[in-house]
Amino acid sequence: MDLSKYEEKYTHHGTVRDGADDELFMKKAIELSGLAVEHGNEPFGAVLVKDGEIVFTNENQIYTMHDPTFHGEAGLIRRFCAETGITDLRDYTLYSSCEPCFMCSGAMVWVRLGRLVYGASNTELENILGNEGCNCSRIVFDNSFWKLEVSAGILKEQALEILKDYFDKHEKG
Ligand SMILES: [Zn+2]
Repeated sequence: MDLSKYEEKYTHHGTVRDGADDELFMKKAIELSGLAVEHGNEPFGAVLVKDGEIVFTNENQIYTMHDPTFHGEAGLIRRFCAETGITDLRDYTLYSSCEPCFMCSGAMVWVRLGRLVYGASNTELENILGNEGCNCSRIVFDNSFWKLEVSAGILKEQALEILKDYFDKHEKG
């Protein structure tokens, strides 16, 4: 019996190691990014998963909440922690339609997130906006005390389509 793939899956810290449903949960995050636009905000969505089930979702709400920090991911973390009292997310996976910014990546460190999965990269987003961009989440994680597992580029074409469509017509907030 070949155990190598099991070893690979279970040798990390924490218990969140199954990526089988990544596309399913990313699809939900991208759906939320579309809903965010319908609700008058920017196209970013986030989904929190534990033990293979969605436990919380959030959309970007920067305009409707008059809060420039109400990003999909930071907003999800704030709301989830406040509503549940849970502040240690090492057993959770967060799915984000786009790579988290410096602020949201920092928030993921403070809650000790177990795993992050994102679609479009920050560089791809910034290129749409005419900027250079950078691998901002990697910069934060590489320089922080908490190391999380990261999977990038999941369903990124679908994530990018919504970003392009929106930022063709709107300025970045
Ligand atoms: Zn952010």
